[in-house]
Amino acid sequence: MSQKVPVTRTDFDRYLVPSYAPSRIVPVRGRGSRVWDQQGHELIDFGGGIAVTGLGHAHPALVAAITEQANTLWHASNLFTNEPALRLARKLVEATFADKVFFANSGAEANEAAFKLGRRYGANTGGENKYEIVSAINSFHGRTLFTVNVTGQAKYSSGFGPRIEGVRHVAFNDIAALEAAVGPNTCAVVIEPIQGESGVIPADPAYLKRARELCDANKALLIFDEVQTGMGRIGKLFAYEHYGVVPDVLTSAKSLGNGFPIGAMLTTDAIAGHFTPGTHGSTYGGNPLGCAAAEVALDIINSPEVLEGIPARHERFMQRLEKMAKDYGVFSQVRGMGLLIGAVLSSQWQGQAADFVRACEDQDLLILQAGPNVLRFAPSLIIDFTDIDEGLDRLERAIKSYIGAHESATA
Ligand SMILES: *Cc1c(COP(=O)(O)O)cnc(C)c1O
Repeated sequence: MSQKVPVTRTDFDRYLVPSYAPSRIVPVRGRGSRVWDQQGHELIDFGGGIAVTGLGHAHPALVAAITEQANTLWHASNLFTNEPALRLARKLVEATFADKVFFANSGAEANEAAFKLGRRYGANTGGENKYEIVSAINSFHGRTLFTVNVTGQAKYSSGFGPRIEGVRHVAFNDIAALEAAVGPNTCAVVIEPIQGESGVIPADPAYLKRARELCDANKALLIFDEVQTGMGRIGKLFAYEHYGVVPDVLTSAKSLGNGFPIGAMLTTDAIAGHFTPGTHGSTYGGNPLGCAAAEVALDIINSPEVLEGIPARHERFMQRLEKMAKDYGVFSQVRGMGLLIGAVLSSQWQGQAADFVRACEDQDLLILQAGPNVLRFAPSLIIDFTDIDEGLDRLERAIKSYIGAHESATA
């Protein structure tokens, strides 16, 4: 038997590679939209991890699905297929534009598969020069070497040796820039329908529509990175439905497994055929446990009860956040869709998103930032209205106390 030795936050600095700077809070338990720390302190969760726990913590149906699968089969390798993967793939296909699914273990890996498929598709259909990938400035696509190079933020890719060639970055929502960048050598255009990490910035409908036309005209794949926007987050199962623009490839992760690691790449029959046995793979991709979790998450999220409950929750957040913007002058804009909401700090508070996040922790509230200037809210899609109201009360207290301390310090 292994022994559970007592541990604290300071053990992080002692034993973990310092690639993160975690909060002082160590969560030990979660239920719905509430989380408890080591001291038994209760917090309200408006972050959902990072837009991951779409059905909250310890959802009984997910606990049951994982427990049942854990007692049945955890791993069989991709030398075999397995029932949970077959069921999940079928359900994803039936619920979307897609005909085929590739399973991975994270958003970055789903994107890695999508970008490799784009390159392979380009090579097969347009020859050796059709390898250019067009991506957006300030986009975020993950942390593998390929995905940091497609990500449009130099801080993620610098210092790791030569860049991957053939990636162009253009300003987001700039149709003229996209028209200038996409050509016969483009194999893929990749877009987040709402830029998540860089500030919750929705794409303009006309931009996505033009991207579709440019991809069609140049025989390039349109890839939507829906790792953050998918699985009900914006009130539709996937954001492309909201925009009415259908991609060739879509990637999903985050809420797909509700916290159990899984990613997926969805595409059409014709495009899927450019991957053949041996072209790409993953030991854990499509493992029975992850697929069992995601199958139940998909069943629950893709239902009228959950999806139709999102607009009212969105409104509850928006009204209160807009009121706080007015009452305290902290936000210049509140934007987003469904339960992916960004509150942009006004000029006086620029660069202080991390400090506001800490001030919220002091009021027992977990929120996220999206870059240095935006507070991000990505709670459970089924969060109770009482939890929303109480969390927003805590947010208001955090804002009052933070700006009070700051303004009196500078007065
Ligand atoms: C989080 C995120 C990723 C990366 O997902 P990981 O699971 O961390 O690898 C990729 N794209 C978008 C849009 C994301 O929000």
